[in-house]
Amino acid sequence: MSDTLEDYRRKRDFRRTPEPQGNPRDDDGRHWVIQQHAASSMHFDLRLEVDGVLKSWAVPKGPSTDPRQRRLAIATEDHPLNYVDFEGVIPEDEYGGGAVIVWDRGHYRNLREDLTMAEALADGLVEVALDGGEKLAGGYALKHTGDRNWLLIKMKDEAADARRNPVSTEPESVISGRTIEEVAEED
Ligand code: MN
Repeated sequence: MSDTLEDYRRKRDFRRTPEPQGNPRDDDGRHWVIQQHAASSMHFDLRLEVDGVLKSWAVPKGPSTDPRQRRLAIATEDHPLNYVDFEGVIPEDEYGGGAVIVWDRGHYRNLREDLTMAEALADGLVEVALDGGEKLAGGYALKHTGDRNWLLIKMKDEAADARRNPVSTEPESVISGRTIEEVAEED
């Protein structure tokens, strides 16, 4: 995975898209966010703050709370840190055109304590505890399976629950309470 925001900036016209361009730092820990994104196909974007950027994966089916579910997660370009707050509508003719909501977010801990996050990414196995979320909690693993493909898997812990399906039962934004359909209509 690349370490810069070059791809992110190259793909966007910031005179047209409301998405953030800059990359201010803050010091309240390492963020995670999952954004629902109604692009040409609906998906969920998982982002983890690593070394000053948001490492990003597009998860077509979204995250599961069932450890038996392995969800494809396709690595995408790094995003700036202030993307964690982005909710709105990207113009239709722009890259990634469509509505975005902040589906869940918080701060995470690296569970591979012998490795930095950059080392875990390079090793092809990331294990993080997602703290502070309203829908997701506990450990999640990302396993590299080749090229840009990873698998997002709920780890077996007290937050694992095969009966929940928050992607469908808890659709609202955690910052505005709106669904992605409402954001698409209102913004
Ligand atoms: Mn996306």
